This record gives sequence, C-alpha cells and structure tokens, in this order.
Amino acid sequence: MENSGSDGRPPFAHQLLKGQKALVTGANSGIGKATAIGLGRVGADVVVNYVAGRDAAEEVVREIESFGVRAYAHEADVSREDEVADMVSRMVGEFGTIDVMVANAGLQRDAALVDMTLEQWQKVLDVNLTGQFLCAREAAKEFMRRGVVPEVSRSAGKIVCMSSVHQIIPWSGHVNYASSKGGVQMLMGTLAQELAPYRIRVNAVAPGAIRTPINRSAWDTPEAEADLLRLIPYRRVGDPEDIANVVAALASDLFDYVVGTTIYVDGGMTLFPGFATGG
Ligand code: NAD
Repeated sequence: MENSGSDGRPPFAHQLLKGQKALVTGANSGIGKATAIGLGRVGADVVVNYVAGRDAAEEVVREIESFGVRAYAHEADVSREDEVADMVSRMVGEFGTIDVMVANAGLQRDAALVDMTLEQWQKVLDVNLTGQFLCAREAAKEFMRRGVVPEVSRSAGKIVCMSSVHQIIPWSGHVNYASSKGGVQMLMGTLAQELAPYRIRVNAVAPGAIRTPINRSAWDTPEAEADLLRLIPYRRVGDPEDIANVVAALASDLFDYVVGTTIYVDGGMTLFPGFATGG
C-alpha cells in the first residue's frame, strides 16, 4: 500500500475509504458536494444524490471519477419513501452494497412564528428530519443484510447525519429548521443505540456557519460577514471542505469506536462567545 504522505496529506489519508461505497444526499451543492468529492478523494465509490440541478450533479460525478473511483448521479427527493428506497436498491445493484450513508440534504424556509405557514413548517421537517429517517432506514436494512466484511471495514456500515449547531442553539425566525435539527440529534442518538449491536455506527456532524448557498445572505457582504464573525471565536467562516474532512474521517475505521456522537465543526460557535467578555 502506498504510504508516502509525500503529497502533503497525512499517511493513508488517500486510502481512508478505499473500496467502500458511499451515498451522499444533496450532493450537487455546498457541503454535500464537498463531502461527495472528499469521500471519492479518499477512495470511496460515490452516489451523488440530487433533487434538482442535474448538470451540477454530473460535474460532481466527473470530479469524483478523476480520482479513479466510480460515481454516478441519482435524482431523488429524500422526503419521498419510494424514491429513497429506489435510490438505495439501485446502488446495491450497481455498486453491490452501501457502506456509508451521509444524510446531508437540507433546506430552510424562514419566517417569524406568526407568519410561518404549515407548508413552510412541514417542508422543512419532511426534508431535514423525515428524509434522514428514510435514508437511515434503507441503509440500515442493507448493512444488516450484509454484516461486517473485515477486508472492507470493521463496522457493518456507517450513517452520518448532517445536523447543525441549531440542534442545541435556539434560533428565532427559524423554528422549523431548529426543530428539525433538534429532531436529528435524537434521531441520531436513538438509531446509534438501536443499531450499535449490529456493528452499525451512527453519528452526526454539526456545522456552524459554512459558506454555502443556504446562508448566502449571512456572509456575502463585508457587513454581514463581520456580524457573523462575532459569533465565531475562531474568526473565520467555515468552508464546505471543513465539513467534508470530518465526515471522511468519521466514516473511516480511524473512528471505529465513535458511536452516537455529534462532532461540532463550528470554529467554537457553541462556546457561548457572548460570555467571552461578559457574564
Ligand atoms: P445547500 O443549499 O448548498 O445544499 C443543500 C442540498 O440539499 C442541495 O443540494 C439541495 O438541492 C439538497 N436538497 C434539498 N431538498 C432536497 C430533497 N428533498 N431531496 C434531496 N436533496 C435535497 O446547503 P448546505 O449548506 O450545503 O446544506 C447541507 C446540509 O448542511 C443541510 O442539512 C444543512 O442544514 C446543513 N448545515 C449547513 C450549514 C451552513 O452553514 N451552510 C450549517 C449547519 C448545517
């Protein structure tokens, strides 16, 4: 096995997920895109899920294929039971199985409570929470059917839930989003407890403020960015690759004993920065 580390990456980093099959939802934009590319870079074959924007998904596929691994794009709405089931069964047909499910797809429909429609509430819960339930369920069925294959991984499968610092930080004007991420926290913990005896690892990554289209207005002017930086002790807005790197490590056997944990990747946003000078 090549292990020079001469390309500047840590030894073995480029082999971390060699031979594993990963599916990333919402993978044609932002964090999902960087994660799909990041998993391909460390050796995984990758299914690039998208709900709209085929060209962007195909571009991600081409970038992943440039690492010498396999990839294809698959259109599916993660909030639709039949579409998620079809997506995973096609993957088992094409790649043989699934080893890593990254339930990343998510959206915001912001409004003050008194203006929020039931449709806005429901849409966010359907995609951000029910979508993760459906993706986890379909992946777990295949993990349990196949079991551990020691040459591939010490575990029978990994589920990574994309949460948010808003699983613990209340966020006025975003009650649908914060509630969905609070739900993801308990979804992740409960599934981790239920599935660990099958050697399935369920964990979450909770990003802080990452530069993606979902929150463009929070960083796309110098004034907005300065405002945002006051909430980040590390004083930089995150990049999608900051999240992708953690997902790749978490999904790998380096993290085999990490079960039911949320890793906050937030530049210290959850350290109550308001208390740095007060309190
Ligand atoms: P993004 O808008 O760039 O990406 C979201 C992706 O999800 C897009 O590809 C979108 O098409 C997809 N998607 C939306 N609805 C879908 C559906 N029904 N089925 C399949 N795909 C669907 O935003 P992002 O910032 O990359 O967000 C990715 C995840 O990270 C989300 O779960 C989000 O809540 C979470 N997150 C982001 C930040 C941040 O600062 N950007 C912070 C915390 C958490």
